[in-house]
Amino acid sequence: MNYLIRILRSLCLPLLLWGQNPIYVVLRIDDIQSRNTTYLPKNLSAFEHAAESRGAKVTYVTIPHRLLESGVNNGSLTVELKNSLLHGHEIAQHGYNHICTRCGSTGHEMYCDTQKSAVARGVQDSLIKNGMKVLKDSLGIVPALFVSPGHHEDSTTYQLLAEQRFKNISTTKSLRGEVTPGLFNIPSTKEYTWTMTASNYHSQLSAGLIDVRTIGQESGCFVFLFHDPFTRQGYLNGIVISWMGEMLDSLKAEYGDRIKFVTLSEAAEHFKNPTTVRSNITAVPADMSLEQNYPNPFNPSTTIEYNIAPQILPGSANGVVQLRVYDVLGNVVSTVVNESQKPGKYSVQFNASSLASGMYFYRLQSGTNVAVRKMVMMK
Ligand SMILES: [Zn+2]
Ligand SMILES: [Zn+2]
Repeated sequence: MNYLIRILRSLCLPLLLWGQNPIYVVLRIDDIQSRNTTYLPKNLSAFEHAAESRGAKVTYVTIPHRLLESGVNNGSLTVELKNSLLHGHEIAQHGYNHICTRCGSTGHEMYCDTQKSAVARGVQDSLIKNGMKVLKDSLGIVPALFVSPGHHEDSTTYQLLAEQRFKNISTTKSLRGEVTPGLFNIPSTKEYTWTMTASNYHSQLSAGLIDVRTIGQESGCFVFLFHDPFTRQGYLNGIVISWMGEMLDSLKAEYGDRIKFVTLSEAAEHFKNPTTVRSNITAVPADMSLEQNYPNPFNPSTTIEYNIAPQILPGSANGVVQLRVYDVLGNVVSTVVNESQKPGKYSVQFNASSLASGMYFYRLQSGTNVAVRKMVMMK
């Protein structure tokens, strides 16, 4: 059995990272304005200005029908969104009114999560078209991006969206790629601010940075999801805005020009046409690989294997290789390797007997090549 696992593991593509690849960063806000009645909806501009001052763009996933409900904001949302468009931000269509025609829930719309079946084709069709009409009449736009309320849709939804010339769809559950001819999907990566408080502010910030270092570096894209900060206490206190600002500042400090702030549709266009994206990326040979540790979870010791290919070093010269272990806050807890090594395959033991149970990251670096993986210590 172990042998089979080892073979399967060796067949998996190694996690290859190259220092110069751009990382596309998207700020996506879902549900503006939601029907949260605890706090009155607030102006978008504080969030938007904090993003703009760092060169970032916002993708507003907008419920069209909210633009018609004068009780919500007396038309001010329409004015604000028109202004956002002028500043290069993006409006995505979030269903029609975020209310299910079958069960009345405000949690979904295209696919009924209560009855576990898709809403009839004709109904979905008019919900999509009605939403488009509202966005056209109120904001003068034809949206390129659709997000299904409840992040749940079916193949009929995809078909209807493609018929209406939507280019992209984005949810929280699907994988990136083409869902139907002409309709591309690029979902959000993570949400950190839904229940943001002063006490979890810093741990959420660390978690986000580590996720960008792992998921974002690996995939070349990171989509931060915010759930309507404009109807939350966190927005009033400025916590969500300062979190977003501190996150963007940290990313720029760490990655500099590698960070490219784009709207969700722009990110989708980059990944839809890989040749366009790849044109500004230097081709790199498979020069370093970091394997998943085994056993995992482990207690207290585990094996980490990695490979330094000859391409990484001229001839058979030595290069400094570092393998370090980090905790979830980004602190180095152990330096396993820090020495000159020749190209070749290496296997090292990591002993965590002095560490607490929990998740750790191990990071291999040689020159500008970096690879990161997660592991779990369980006592
Ligand atoms: Zn329903
Ligand atoms: Zn929603």
